[in-house]
Amino acid sequence: MRTTCVVVGAGQGGLAMSRCLTERSIDHVVLERTEVASAWRRQRWDSLRLLTPNWQCRLPGWAYEGSDPDGFMTCAQVADFITSYAAAISAPVRTGTSVTSVSRNHDGYRVATDQGEWQCETVVLASGAFNKPHVPALADAVPSCVRQLTPLDYHRPGDLSDGGVLVVGASATGVQLAHEIQLSGRPVVLSVGEHVRGPRLYRGRDIHWWMEAAGVLHERYDEVDDIVRARRVPSMQLAGTDERADFDLNALSAIGVRIVGRLAGMRDGVALFSGSLRNKCELADLKLGRLLNAIDEWATGQDLDGDVPPPHRFEPTAVPAPSMLTLDLARGDITSIVWASGFRPDYSWLDVDVLDAKGMVRHDGGVVSDSPGMYLIGTPFLRRRKSSFIDGACDDAQDLIVELAAFLDGAAGGDRMITRPSSTAQLPAPRAATRSTRGSAYRRGG
Ligand SMILES: Cc1cc2nc3c(=O)[nH]c(=O)nc-3n(C[C@H](O)[C@H](O)[C@H](O)COP(=O)(O)OP(=O)(O)OC[C@H]3O[C@@H](n4cnc5c(N)ncnc54)[C@H](O)[C@@H]3O)c2cc1C
Repeated sequence: MRTTCVVVGAGQGGLAMSRCLTERSIDHVVLERTEVASAWRRQRWDSLRLLTPNWQCRLPGWAYEGSDPDGFMTCAQVADFITSYAAAISAPVRTGTSVTSVSRNHDGYRVATDQGEWQCETVVLASGAFNKPHVPALADAVPSCVRQLTPLDYHRPGDLSDGGVLVVGASATGVQLAHEIQLSGRPVVLSVGEHVRGPRLYRGRDIHWWMEAAGVLHERYDEVDDIVRARRVPSMQLAGTDERADFDLNALSAIGVRIVGRLAGMRDGVALFSGSLRNKCELADLKLGRLLNAIDEWATGQDLDGDVPPPHRFEPTAVPAPSMLTLDLARGDITSIVWASGFRPDYSWLDVDVLDAKGMVRHDGGVVSDSPGMYLIGTPFLRRRKSSFIDGACDDAQDLIVELAAFLDGAAGGDRMITRPSSTAQLPAPRAATRSTRGSAYRRGG
């Protein structure tokens, strides 16, 4: 089968690209191994709600229009939001189709699936950045009496045995899990490395409102000093709750969670924690201060100071002194470990030499320069600080379609014009792309 573009994955990233492709009448197909929005249906724990407010759920030509713009959707609601989008844009999704290999050939790309083969000129990798939990190698040395889980195995506290739980990692996932496990009556020890502290509310508004308004979330990949480092910055310690509660380390300590340093080793069944906890917390407090300074400066510059409460600062993180450096896992106090130590993408099916030593796609703002005609969407700080959020897929797709269309234009000898997308015009705008064979690769207008 032939098409101009194969999009791998029907999450928000793949669908945002599909809408932009359709808008330019670029013939394409979206291949999805399970179902639309499957990550939100299958890979999240029961209580998870978005940490981004509902008003920030935007996709090209589509936005949240419910009655609770300042609320936070449940996973089922997010899945419905994305599934409705797929239907509204008539995305040419083929569900139940696993891509088993993508390779280059003289004609562009050969995409092998368990439902047959596709030949195409361009490929969009929209398969997700958080497919596999990252578990450090020292997990092998954990005593067998301790059950180990990842956020993909964990659904609810009742899945855990009674007894203490070591949660490793204090980014959004780790703090949310530590919070609900502690409240279930299982005492939690939370191992904390580098982290990003964030309050839910500041000066009467949601922190995401401030970060968007002040341009923090829009910061571009080619504007930051060290993009490699920026792409590794952990997620902010936030959760979406009706109470708009903070989920920082002070909030967790207040409910009895025990804070320890980064898990640095495992010796004879004893977990060894780094002594750098205080430094890590001071650094996170410092960075929070810088963020709030930038917000305050922006607010003053916009003449907003009269409209919102005055600036204030949060209590420094209370670090236990001395902090616990060892925990004997064989003693029986800890019955489970939850590895909230990050996620990685899975490109095991990608047979093109575009991965770096860490298994990440080498790219320049989503353009996979080492493999012309290949594009990436949905990874952290792809083009903007918000790239891995739902809202990030919206802007990134609208940028990437310009690159992709220009590539097709070039491949066609430069005799085709690129149409500009009509930004986020209300649906229904484009009609579904017309299937084409090579030679009439894509059609303009629509
Ligand atoms: C725990 C957690 C909480 C998050 N909370 C928020 C939040 O509050 N707000 C926010 O904006 N973002 C949040 N995100 C980030 C982001 O929005 C989600 O990860 C989102 O699912 C990413 O969408 P995506 O389309 O890039 O990838 P995915 O949703 O992962 O979609 C990729 C799709 O590709 C398919 N696929 C993968 N490999 C293949 C293959 N070989 N063949 C065919 N199909 C394939 C998968 O089945 C999947 O359906 C969160 C992420 C995580 C992990």
